[in-house]
Amino acid sequence: MQTLDKFNFAGKKAFVRVDFNVPLDENQKITDDTRIRAAMPTLKKIINDGGMLIIGSHMGRPKKNPDPKYSLKSILDHVSECLGVPVAFAPDCQQADAQVAALKPGQALLLENLRFYAEEEGKPRGLADDASDEEKAAAKKAVKESQKAFTKKLASYADCYVNDAFGTAHRAHASTALIADYFDADHKMFGYLMNKEVVAVEKVMENTVRPFTAIMGGSKVSTKIDIIENLLGKVDNLILTGGMTYTFSKAMGGKIGTSICEDDKLDLALDIMKKAKENGVNLVLAVDSKIGDSFSNDAKTAYAGVNDIPDGWEGMDIGPKTMEIFANVIKNSKTILWNGPAGVFEFDNFAAGSKAVAEAIVDATAKGAFSLVGGGDSVACVNKFGLADKVSYVSTGGGALLEAIEGKVLPGIKAIQG
Ligand code: AMP
Repeated sequence: MQTLDKFNFAGKKAFVRVDFNVPLDENQKITDDTRIRAAMPTLKKIINDGGMLIIGSHMGRPKKNPDPKYSLKSILDHVSECLGVPVAFAPDCQQADAQVAALKPGQALLLENLRFYAEEEGKPRGLADDASDEEKAAAKKAVKESQKAFTKKLASYADCYVNDAFGTAHRAHASTALIADYFDADHKMFGYLMNKEVVAVEKVMENTVRPFTAIMGGSKVSTKIDIIENLLGKVDNLILTGGMTYTFSKAMGGKIGTSICEDDKLDLALDIMKKAKENGVNLVLAVDSKIGDSFSNDAKTAYAGVNDIPDGWEGMDIGPKTMEIFANVIKNSKTILWNGPAGVFEFDNFAAGSKAVAEAIVDATAKGAFSLVGGGDSVACVNKFGLADKVSYVSTGGGALLEAIEGKVLPGIKAIQG
């Protein structure tokens, strides 16, 4: 497989798909530039080689072309500043031929939001609410047809293709996957960020050093079921925590007060327990909870067994016995995956359990384990506790990471790896 380090970009035009979908305030000012900074090593390598950059990204969910609220023009100056060279702007990603032709080695061009065109996602737009199935099918067929010309145009700008947008790797969009067909294996490659993500996921899901412990938290079992099912075939220890604890407690006949519970998933919880046993997986559930008398940081608090929560109280974090049990399992692991908090960590009074999990992961990492944290709220957790740089890898891709740990093949990865 071609790599960024092996490829000499001197005199070459590179189409680089990045994820510059950064949050903006009401004045179109960037509120968090993490994603822009994350792509810089790749962009700088190409510029420093004497290559020419054609940078493509999406931002938000525009519904028309143009949609000024989602214009990448808002971030142009900041991209130039981070890259250290002036970056030109192409106001229409399909009409950039002259600007692309004018690029000289070491120069860069940022294309306007690729999703201004429905063809980027390949989903029809502007269908009436009452459109018939035939109309929907015809519109879908039409956009898929015009998607080919759209993709070909993007590909025509460049000699090679670099994908550094892990956040959209689970989408088979024009610029994230389809475009790769226009380049041979020597002229398409991952960017540094994407490569780090791919290597981290492979280390956890494929080249696993055992014992492998996954910690799945969050609010509901239903949203995590595909991941849990996949992990049941891979892990040694599966810690299921957060709000889903109480669906398990109730399924086993416990008393859960007003704790969050999915009553239609009680059988599913029992089934997960059965499958864990059949697969020889050590399923670890909480034994005690920190409970509150209302869903608020200022709630009155107490501790209770997970099967013994009084009426009018709800389990909002794991208790001290559980923290110790979880920490022991985590500290004896060599590979760790964490997705989803152990409690309502947004409330400081119910954040201790998630912090204990994060600290145990940090300890294990210091002793040589590989730890991957990702998928939304657990990233917020490690950031809140200032521990992000003490785990092996914090994923930048929410949905993409979740699909990867569900065991799905990600189109953006397959397009490059073949
Ligand atoms: P998810 O998006 O499914 O990963 O869930 C994350 C959310 O789960 C966070 O906002 C947490 O506050 C919430 N959560 C974790 N533990 C609990 C709990 N015991 N009760 C209610 N919500 C919880």
